[in-house]
Amino acid sequence: MIQAAPVHPQTTAVHAGRPPRDPDAPLNTPAVFASTYVAGGDVGYGRYGNPTWSAVESIVGELEGGRALAFGSGMAAISAAVELVRPDATVVLPRHCYLGVRALLEQRASSGTKVRLVDVADTTEVLDAAEGADLVWLETPTNPTMEVADLVAISSRLAGSPATVVVDNTFATPLLQQPLGLGADVVVHSATKFFSGHSDAVLGVVVVRADDEDRRTRLDTLRRLRGAVPGTMEAYLVARGLRTLGVRLERAQANAGALAAWLHDHPAVDRVHYPGLPDDPGHAVAARQMAGFGSLLSIDLGSAERADALVAAARLWVHATSLGGVESTFERRRRWAGELPSVPEGLIRLSVGIEHVEDLRADLEQAFDQL
Ligand SMILES: *Cc1c(COP(=O)(O)O)cnc(C)c1O
Repeated sequence: MIQAAPVHPQTTAVHAGRPPRDPDAPLNTPAVFASTYVAGGDVGYGRYGNPTWSAVESIVGELEGGRALAFGSGMAAISAAVELVRPDATVVLPRHCYLGVRALLEQRASSGTKVRLVDVADTTEVLDAAEGADLVWLETPTNPTMEVADLVAISSRLAGSPATVVVDNTFATPLLQQPLGLGADVVVHSATKFFSGHSDAVLGVVVVRADDEDRRTRLDTLRRLRGAVPGTMEAYLVARGLRTLGVRLERAQANAGALAAWLHDHPAVDRVHYPGLPDDPGHAVAARQMAGFGSLLSIDLGSAERADALVAAARLWVHATSLGGVESTFERRRRWAGELPSVPEGLIRLSVGIEHVEDLRADLEQAFDQL
């Protein structure tokens, strides 16, 4: 991007990754549907590269302050990041995190991968577990309980150690948190969520530091050989979605903050997990390392029956998994067989959208009235 002065990430999201401003050039990188290219260039074949993926990579790379590679899904990106360490690696993993990562590492147990589960909010526990580890996987805030890891405290202590520090930044997005700048080695994203923003595409991204040619090359090779490449249409949708990330997030986050405060004092709710609440255990660290507290929260209604009844009674809120779309969605997490027993049966994760907050509150209120 050509610019006179450093700009805010909201502006980067709008302007990065566009074609050069030549007369009659389109403002947007076109959706290039191509399985092959005329020989003699840098790309050559559709599994090796695509201008529409490159647009996504430029935008996300600039936002995260590194170099990005797009993959076919968040899990494809995560699989590639995990493959950066040897098969018999020791991996530190948050007790609560995206379930797919845990399942992936369990599959690798037969290759010798060992997992040490930690409470990411407990920096001492993370650092103790990181002793002799090859990979420290962090997610912050975590899914679905919104625990906050202290990225600076953890990364600074592990700098110079052999452990690779990877942060799944899906929940925060680079508008709120930039882990490479806080000391992490690698960032992964499910672009399916906030980047797309409209629940219409599946895509993933891995980002490494700008000077980390070694990891970038290895990830590129993995993408070529495993073939976990994004589709052109998905890349186009994600590039388009990223343009409005700033305003979507601002509105969704304001809604989430208002709802969290209201739910915190609601008699039907046992507990609210949202780092934006002053009495949340993650509040101080989140306030230090994030530019906002995001638009995800979870509430505990005390029992599976009450939680199931609430999601069934809503009219506006959609009962669905996934998150980060313009529409508000929620689900009881323990409805998934793989979700951990340490996640309460009555816990509902809410992904707050961009609707009018009064309508979101009124719909929850009428649903609470039916309990
Ligand atoms: C959804 C999600 C993933 C997986 O991404 P997909 O695009 O579904 O493959 C990974 N991490 C987090 C935090 C997620 O929410």
